[in-house]
Amino acid sequence: MSLATMARIPSAIPLSAAPTTPVLVVDDVVQRYETREGPIVAVDHMSLDVRPGEFVSVIGPSGCGKSTLFNVIGGLIAPTEGQVRVVGERVSGPHPAIGMVFQEESAFPWRSVVDNVAFPLEIRGMPKAERLERARHFISLVGLDGFERRYPSELSGGMRQRVAIARTLAFEPKILLMDEPFAALDEQTRLLLGDKVIEIQQALQQTIVLITHNIAEAVQLSDRILVMTWRPGRTKRIIEIDLPRPRTSEIVGSEAFGRYVAEIWKDLREEASRGMTEADRAALARG
Ligand code: ADP
Repeated sequence: MSLATMARIPSAIPLSAAPTTPVLVVDDVVQRYETREGPIVAVDHMSLDVRPGEFVSVIGPSGCGKSTLFNVIGGLIAPTEGQVRVVGERVSGPHPAIGMVFQEESAFPWRSVVDNVAFPLEIRGMPKAERLERARHFISLVGLDGFERRYPSELSGGMRQRVAIARTLAFEPKILLMDEPFAALDEQTRLLLGDKVIEIQQALQQTIVLITHNIAEAVQLSDRILVMTWRPGRTKRIIEIDLPRPRTSEIVGSEAFGRYVAEIWKDLREEASRGMTEADRAALARG
């Protein structure tokens, strides 16, 4: 699809934000859950500004509140306190500026790749020729040329995740918000898919927020990494990843990469150990 064609597609988002204005603001967000064991503070006064075109990962041990933060940013749950703003607008439900990609595969098995990617555009009422053209453009961008007429069952797990990414990108969201999108994939596929995501990010100047527990993945992809504490989920540290771009997965062999991984593991290890001890205690208490 030509850029001219894409520019005609009306966007629900005003383009008023100056380049240096954060496109996403997480403003003092608190999320509490009432449980049978009492209240749990899953996210405790977290704030984060994300600049246009930036790649930010949020990393933390299991149970630290990553998915809760993902759901709050994506407008799927309203925070107990604080707010999320996207291009200056308060998020109060799923917002057209935020495209979400989930860990679980979400392709419709009875629809071909092109029909999967075009489906949400169909729901939006986009004319057929236009939505198919747009779907093909994004299928090509994720490197699935030639697979348009295949069905999800004929694809590998990594390819199915690329279909999910293409489907979300077809909306042209300001922010791509991904929750452990590569968690179910083997390490090699994960690294190569990381290369693909970097290519896409460069091509679209896409702002990306990635939720992950994988340190290498976060370092490979990110400009900044926010490390969360284990319950209550707070910002332990934000680390700038000063590795050259464009990056490829070859970077994982470099000394600088290894230093970042070691540094983040030092922070994360404390939190993961705390989480493990608490889990052991809880198991003992249950008998
Ligand atoms: P992560 O994604 O880092 O594993 P979550 O956000 O899923 O963490 O969970 C953070 C904490 O909040 C955990 O202790 C979890 O048990 C709790 N939690 C998550 N969702 C709910 C919910 N809907 N009701 C009650 N507690 C929840």
